[in-house]
Parts: sequence; C-alpha cells; structure tokens
Amino acid sequence: MRRDFEYIVLGLGGWGSAAAYWLSRRAGADVLGLEQFELGHVRGESQDHSRIIRLSYHTPAYVELAKHAYRAWAEVERDAGERLVLKTGGLDFARRESAIPLSNYSGSMDAAGVPYERLDASEIRRRWPQLAVTDDVHGLFQPESGIAMAARGNAAHVRMARAHGATLLDRMPVERLRPVDGEIEVTAGGSAYRCRRLMIAAGAWSNGALTHFGVHLPLRVTLEQVTYFATPHPEEFQPDRFPIWIWMDDPCFYGFPIFGEAGPKVGQDAGGEEVTANTRTFEPDQAALKRTVDFLGRYIPRLLGPIIYTKTCLYTLTPDRDFVLDTLPGHPNVAVGIGGGHGFKFASLTGRILSDLAIDGRTERNIEPFRIDRAVLQLANPPANYMV
Ligand SMILES: Cc1cc2nc3c(=O)[nH]c(=O)nc-3n(C[C@H](O)[C@H](O)[C@H](O)COP(=O)(O)OP(=O)(O)OC[C@H]3O[C@@H](n4cnc5c(N)ncnc54)[C@H](O)[C@@H]3O)c2cc1C
Repeated sequence: MRRDFEYIVLGLGGWGSAAAYWLSRRAGADVLGLEQFELGHVRGESQDHSRIIRLSYHTPAYVELAKHAYRAWAEVERDAGERLVLKTGGLDFARRESAIPLSNYSGSMDAAGVPYERLDASEIRRRWPQLAVTDDVHGLFQPESGIAMAARGNAAHVRMARAHGATLLDRMPVERLRPVDGEIEVTAGGSAYRCRRLMIAAGAWSNGALTHFGVHLPLRVTLEQVTYFATPHPEEFQPDRFPIWIWMDDPCFYGFPIFGEAGPKVGQDAGGEEVTANTRTFEPDQAALKRTVDFLGRYIPRLLGPIIYTKTCLYTLTPDRDFVLDTLPGHPNVAVGIGGGHGFKFASLTGRILSDLAIDGRTERNIEPFRIDRAVLQLANPPANYMV
C-alpha cells in the first residue's frame, strides 16, 4: 500500500470527509483520509439524519459564509447526483426580552442583503397553529432555511472522494504526528505515512491531535442530545407544513419537521454536561429531556407524543462559539478545522476551505474570525458565551 501522499486528512466526520472530497476533486489519488472508527460511526458530532442549515446568523460574516455553504452543498449534490439539502423555511422566535436578541440576526441579514420576514405572535399562530406562542413572542422567518441531510452528506463526501481517487481508511487511529524535513509523518494503526500537507478535523479529539505540535486549545466538549417524538399529529409536522425552528433564549431549543424518523426532532442547544470524547456515555440526560418536554408542552404541545428515542452526540465548543479554521502557528503545512457545535451546515464549505488552504495556501473566504491565535483561545480558562 502507498505510504507517501501529498495530503492527509485526520478524521473523517462531517468536516474531514468534506475536506477529503474537495481535495480529491483537485488532487485525486494524492489524498489519504484516516478515521479512527468505522465510517459513519455515532461517537462524534456529525451522524444523524438532519442538521439545521440557515442563512439567519448572528454576524454578517457568518451570513456571508452560509451563502457559500449552500453553494458548496449544491455542487456536491450535482456531483453526487442526490439531494442533500431540503429547504423547509426557518423560524427564529423568542419573547421580546430574550437572552439571544433577534435584532442581531435581522441586522446581520440586513447587512448581507438576505430577505426575511418579521412576524408577531398572531402571525406566527396564523401560519403555524402548531405553535402556541403567547403575545409577547415575535419571530423572524427566512425561507432558505432547512435541513442539511447529515448522514447522507457525509456518505456522499466519502463516496465521491473515493470516486475521485482518494484513499479513505477507517479503523485507523492516528497515534503520532511528527514534522520531518518539511513534511509530516503520520503514524496510524501501527503504520507510518508521510504527507506534504496535513488537515486535522478531529472534532472532540482535536487537542489529542494538536498536542503533537505543542498546541492546546481551551475547548469544552459537552454531551448533547436530541429526541424524536411520535406526535399524534404527524400531518402537521411534515417538512412542507412545518419549518425548522430555534427558540432564541436561554435555554435555547431547536427542532425539525418529520425527517428520517416517524416523528419530529427536538433538542436543547449547549445544554449538556462537560465530558471527554473517550469517557462520555451514550445515556440520555433525563433532566435535559424534561426541560425539552416542558418547553414543548408550553409552546408546541401538539408535537408531544411517545418518545421514539433520544440520541446523544458531542459538541466541541470554543469559548466564543466561533470555529477554528486556520493553519498552525509555525506549521503552515498543517491546517485545523473545529465546528464549535454549529458547524455541520458549513461542512462542505469548510472542507473546501481546508482543501484550498492545503493546495493553494489561501482561501477566498473570510476566515479571519476563526484564527487559532485569537485572544480568547490563548487563555487557559476563558470566559465562555455559547448563547450567540
Ligand atoms: C446534537 C447535535 C446537534 C447539532 N445540530 C446542528 C445543526 O442543527 N446545525 C449545524 O450546522 N450543526 C449542528 N451541530 C454541530 C455539528 O454537527 C458539528 O459542528 C459538526 O458535525 C462537526 O464535525 P467534525 O467533523 O468537526 O466532527 P466529527 O464529526 O466528530 O468528526 C471528527 C472525526 O475525527 C475522528 N478522529 C479524531 N481523532 C482521530 C484520530 N486520532 N485518528 C483518526 N480519526 C480521528 C473522529 O473519530 C471523528 O470521526 C450539532 C451537533 C450535535 C451534537
């Protein structure tokens, strides 16, 4: 088996499989991807039927980036010959004095020229009688929002990367990384590989990989969960009748119409306990589930029904919730990408950015906010703000 490659991707979750795909479009057989578990495993962050994709974001920079994310997914859809994004429209809603101000979202969309509608409570109830909102609630509706089909998207990236000539190996834990003569030696599964450029997309395991370059980031890994409910009114929660939604307050909840399972999915954002990727359990947090059920009982009661299942998943949180997307200080041939617990919608784009950084040493996208040397990432115990 070949051991020398131009490009190696460490980690084949959402972001890494996308990086391997975009690299393979330009570099074909010169690409190796290494994944420690089986492809499509559920121990990381990227594997479920659905993730929210939206233009509605809290800064104009994210809105601009999200426009490019839709374009990147559309290119993969064309290449793979299958649909990976389903537009349902999206509702951001909250009480008028909420922890996450809707004005940040409307202001960012205004700045980026993205159309949306402002809705008061009576208009929300008129459009979606499923939402029992009180009169103090208002919302923003953006029609491009929808579902990024996570498991399908990952599988498409993997399949098409291989079709373009890349070698992707699973059950291949990377044990050691070592700069040698301007290249990187990668030891995985007991074998040594060499590459000119390395991309690290290791999610909750990022610090384990970065430590080989003397880098440690103040990341917090949390055990999050989503629950599918067997609503007794499935006709009201179909994707053509019910949007993706985010309750913009603390606690923050979000949800999907019926997609992939027999009922809609709901979760609390950043509501989980701190864990490590290797010692986490797969046990649902009953207190978090109760918070979710209480919220639904108040605002979306017709969604509630028997629990189909609760699925756990990891967030890798930076203190400011912004991504890390950069090359390593002192190692311009090593790039790293970390999704900050909201990165799936961007996966294909960030994969493309990582591949551009590797091949061209630059990207046309604005990744300045995601620098690895930004001040908050230099602190050992930085203050954290996840409600953005
Ligand atoms: C419950 C939940 C809901 C979410 N909802 C949304 C949403 O609605 N919209 C959205 O945009 N985002 C959402 N996110 C966030 C999003 O899913 C993540 O930001 C994104 O999937 C991160 O992908 P990743 O590739 O960085 O991580 P992962 O998919 O975890 O990939 C990292 C991979 O690296 C591998 N790896 C690590 N170390 C090694 C090693 N040493 N050797 C080999 N392989 C290694 C791991 O095994 C893993 O497969 C959600 C996340 C969760 C948990």
